[in-house]
Amino acid sequence: AHLDAIEALNPRLNAYVAVTGERALERARASDARRARGEALGPLDGAPLGIKDLFCTEGVRTTAGSRILGSFVPPYESTVTANLLRDGAVFLGKTNMDEFAMGSSNTTSALGPVENPWNRRNDPDARLVPGGSSGGSAAAVAARLALGATATDTGGSIRQPAAFCGIAGIKPTYGRCSRWGVVAFASSLDQAGPVARTVEDCAILLRSMSGFDPKDSTSADVPVPDFAAACGRSVKGLRIGVPKEYRLDGMPAEIEALWRQGLDWLRDAGAETVEISLPHTKYALPTYYIVAPAEASSNLARYDGVRYGLRVEERNGDLKDLYERTRAAGFGAEVKRRVMIGTYVLSAGYYDAYYLKAQKVRALIKRDFDEVFAPNGAAKVDAIVTPATPSAAFGMDEKQDDPVTMYLNDVFTVTANLAGLPGISVPAGLDAQGLPLGLQVIGRAFDEETVFAVGAALE
Ligand code: GLN
Repeated sequence: AHLDAIEALNPRLNAYVAVTGERALERARASDARRARGEALGPLDGAPLGIKDLFCTEGVRTTAGSRILGSFVPPYESTVTANLLRDGAVFLGKTNMDEFAMGSSNTTSALGPVENPWNRRNDPDARLVPGGSSGGSAAAVAARLALGATATDTGGSIRQPAAFCGIAGIKPTYGRCSRWGVVAFASSLDQAGPVARTVEDCAILLRSMSGFDPKDSTSADVPVPDFAAACGRSVKGLRIGVPKEYRLDGMPAEIEALWRQGLDWLRDAGAETVEISLPHTKYALPTYYIVAPAEASSNLARYDGVRYGLRVEERNGDLKDLYERTRAAGFGAEVKRRVMIGTYVLSAGYYDAYYLKAQKVRALIKRDFDEVFAPNGAAKVDAIVTPATPSAAFGMDEKQDDPVTMYLNDVFTVTANLAGLPGISVPAGLDAQGLPLGLQVIGRAFDEETVFAVGAALE
């Protein structure tokens, strides 16, 4: 059924960049046979999933949305996808994404933009973005082209597309999911996580995806709880922080109203809401847009035409010419912009002023959260609730000319990455145009259970 739906809708949505139908049917039949024989089934046995094209999949082309990896077929499986296969999942194919996960609208993919399955009531012909960078995963799940999907989040790429497409998505604590076999963007911020139609489905998927992996030195050796059980937990007595810095000037009144409504629901369910301050929030976006490009410029140095993917032949045996031609032809405009910013802020003479300064501000942003989450602190909150995005999905031709306007999409999401904390986006209602809006729940490090409990209460 999912493969038929992909055939019917993918030509319009472009959510999948590869469909592995035969493999999927083979695994689905094997799952049916196990069921018929009465064998023990895995927690995801037969569950049809989309896999973001940033995860290496053995024998299946993995492009990261880039021309430079256009012909790359990994000889190995990422840890996260291997964990899902171990638990019985069926992969339908690879989902589209912004090039190297850089973007908020899924318009930077070398394999073409993704369209959001939702439309505005008053202008149903306008094509809207699904958000990014995991736009293919979010659009696929929203349009019923997968039951769930893997995604990654460096500055919001799980939560923002989930919000734009009316589904749920969680970025777990940094270290919860192994990054091994996930094409690197900004290694100190990147985290894998699921998108799915419900908070509970996200919980089931995250449990399978998580776990310590000796192949990733930043993977955390901590137990993986039964996240799905946490979805049914009462929120009674929880203290929910409402950060005043997230009340932005010019934010649509509908988003403000939805936020208030969510807090009302939590109070009705017995939680207590408290106004808090995260004073360094205003520096989060500039900090992110220094740290992330810096790490990206270093990570992307490996695409040189020698070791991976695309190679554009040099002239006169000049190695530098080979690098330049390959990278000029292989990277898109947004990736080049990030490599230039990153190289600049890391260069001698500017390193202290930009990169080192950004790292110091990052520590202050993290400290803001530590203080409100401290069990003996003045605020003592258990979770924080904010809007997921400052707007609903926008048109495919909007915000494309000005990178800074595009970066503003991430204003509510980058903080959790800079602090390494778990954050979920939950569909919370529709705006006047009938477009979905999301609320975000941020929790303490490795306390995804509270995040799921509060998320499920908001759903
Ligand atoms: N939109 C942000 C960026 O362009 C975040 C991307 C992400 O989380 N991968 O960097």
